[in-house]
Amino acid sequence: MGHDLEKVLVTEEQINARLTEMAAEIDADYAGRELLLVGVLKGAVMVMADLSRRLHHDVEMDWMAVSSYGSGTKSSGVVRILKDLDCDVTGRDVLIVEDIVDTGLTLSWLIANLRSRGAHSVEVATMLRKPGEARVPVEVAYVGFDIPGEFVVGYGLDYNQRYRTLPFVGTLAPHVYA
Ligand code: 5GP
Repeated sequence: MGHDLEKVLVTEEQINARLTEMAAEIDADYAGRELLLVGVLKGAVMVMADLSRRLHHDVEMDWMAVSSYGSGTKSSGVVRILKDLDCDVTGRDVLIVEDIVDTGLTLSWLIANLRSRGAHSVEVATMLRKPGEARVPVEVAYVGFDIPGEFVVGYGLDYNQRYRTLPFVGTLAPHVYA
């Protein structure tokens, strides 16, 4: 995969250090409360696994799959549920675990959707955020790293289902898109 990469934006060491800090913040903020982590498939698998294992909290985990990207690199703004939650969120404290917040369209839809089901609270933890690309304001309580508005892969993020297993976050060389 090495020759497909252009540059590394966030190293494995940086990700691990930041996850530990984020977990400490979440533990403190939710002290004494039950927490439901909702991961967004498939991109959030890595951050969910690594963040949840750093929590000292007894958490429950559930997953949703939504589509907003197709196989290209531009957000469509159209959100469709491909896999819904298994559990009922009524009255629960929900923390959405995301890989990346780009335009914010997917996330704002997801927050509204979970609130409409009667969740007691809905907050967001994301490993990456592209502040320059925001098209709707979304309040994100826990952010790993703010990055420039480039298409990135690794640490759960794919391009045409590849590169998810890279332990760092980087950009692809132009020939990959050709
Ligand atoms: P948004 O709705 O905030 O624009 O983005 C929603 C989804 O688009 C993210 O959860 C992620 O799956 C995908 N996405 C956004 N930016 C990137 C990126 O730079 N790389 C990859 N691989 N996916 C992205």
